[in-house]
Amino acid sequence: MEFDTIAAVSTALGEGAIGIVRLSGDEAIQIADKIYIGKKSLQEVPSHTIVYGHLIDPKTQERVEEAMVSVLRAPKTFTREDVIEINCHGGIMSVNRVLQLVLKNGARLAEPGEFTKRAFLNGRIDLSQAEGVMDLIRAKTDKAMNIALNQVEGRLSKKIQTLRQALLETVANVEVNIDYPEYDAETMTHDLLKTKASFVISEIEKLLQTAEQGKIVREGLSTVIIGRPNVGKSSLLNSLVHENKAIVTDIPGTTRDVIEEYVNVRGVPLRLVDTAGIRETEDIVERIGVERSRQVLKEAELILLVLNNGDDLTDEDVALFKAVEKMNVIVIVNKTDQERKIDIERVKHLNEGRPLVTTSLIEDSGVEDLEQAIASLFFSGGLEAEDVTYVSNSRHIALLEQSKSTIEDAMAAIDMGVPIDLVQIDVTRTWELLGEIIGDSVQDSLLDQLFSQFCLGK
Ligand code: GDP
Repeated sequence: MEFDTIAAVSTALGEGAIGIVRLSGDEAIQIADKIYIGKKSLQEVPSHTIVYGHLIDPKTQERVEEAMVSVLRAPKTFTREDVIEINCHGGIMSVNRVLQLVLKNGARLAEPGEFTKRAFLNGRIDLSQAEGVMDLIRAKTDKAMNIALNQVEGRLSKKIQTLRQALLETVANVEVNIDYPEYDAETMTHDLLKTKASFVISEIEKLLQTAEQGKIVREGLSTVIIGRPNVGKSSLLNSLVHENKAIVTDIPGTTRDVIEEYVNVRGVPLRLVDTAGIRETEDIVERIGVERSRQVLKEAELILLVLNNGDDLTDEDVALFKAVEKMNVIVIVNKTDQERKIDIERVKHLNEGRPLVTTSLIEDSGVEDLEQAIASLFFSGGLEAEDVTYVSNSRHIALLEQSKSTIEDAMAAIDMGVPIDLVQIDVTRTWELLGEIIGDSVQDSLLDQLFSQFCLGK
């Protein structure tokens, strides 16, 4: 495919030692050459080398920057196009000036994700790999990073291709059957179809089994800490944040502009929702009546309900148990350094067998137990072995579920004696659905939407 030449700042905007402006396209080298002065022109430089020189404004001949320029010729580049990477000083002014220069000299400002989109459109990576690239950038824990890396390296793609191949073979067989009805292969085709279909179903099931954990690792668990005033919610939040690496992310442009705080608890990324609310509002119980808090609770995947060991259970405590019925709750009986007044048997009864831990946050005890409880609640048995292919992306999960139900329809149809050419429709549809995961036959609008979620310059 042929595209114009795009450019963007590819490093994070801010003060850093080095900033990189990247160009990709047929004219990348030519455009960079207009603004570059070094020993040789960039056109003469061998591919995959980096050269020192100065950047000038060709209009005024004024020196703008000192730079190291990488010349990477197609096809062995990220986009499979000619790529130039200009390494300049890392200040915001500096990289922006270099970007403006290349834009004035013939490049177009890239859209978010456009470099990766070209890598996809030029066939270097498939869609699930491209999505893996984005996950890699956004990964917040080592486990999330590993899953993303496997995806970038094409593990999921290979799996999907194997399944599609199996389906294709049966389709081919059915075609033969339709074209040569006199050649009595109907039973053979039925048998083959059933064998292949059950293989595909069991493989999809295996993938879907990893989905729940995969999704948690990728997206984090939205977690809400609730409890009466003064039971120790803020103390709990602080100790979780202090003992674990907290990652604060600001995701502008999403439906809710929220500042989210992540803590990594034994590989489970907890997304502490509405932490500002917990910090600022003393009376969370009062706020339960507020619609917004209800919503936050409703969306929570994990509730940490804090109680005071040194105090009797109150109606408010009981009301909180009611509010979180049927949810993933871990009860934390805090302040065990104080004499027990709470009716622990009643707490256990109210909690209906869900995990309960005791802590003294002031003495820093019990937090490990809590972390263990969180980890075993979601990863009972721990994360599986390294060689498992994880599915973590909601789009992939949805497509796998659709594929599974479609191929199951085909199986049922065979059993009911439906003519083979009708069964084939479902088989073909399954093949298409699986194809969407790796970007075969996806609509442009979906591509635009997916790549627009990337960061600028990627
Ligand atoms: P919140 O209102 O639920 O957020 O509670 P805070 O975390 O602000 O704690 C309220 C008070 O209880 C503070 O003075 C804490 O120092 C104290 N506190 C928290 N945890 C413990 C504990 O385990 N034992 C004792 N004795 N006091 C605690």
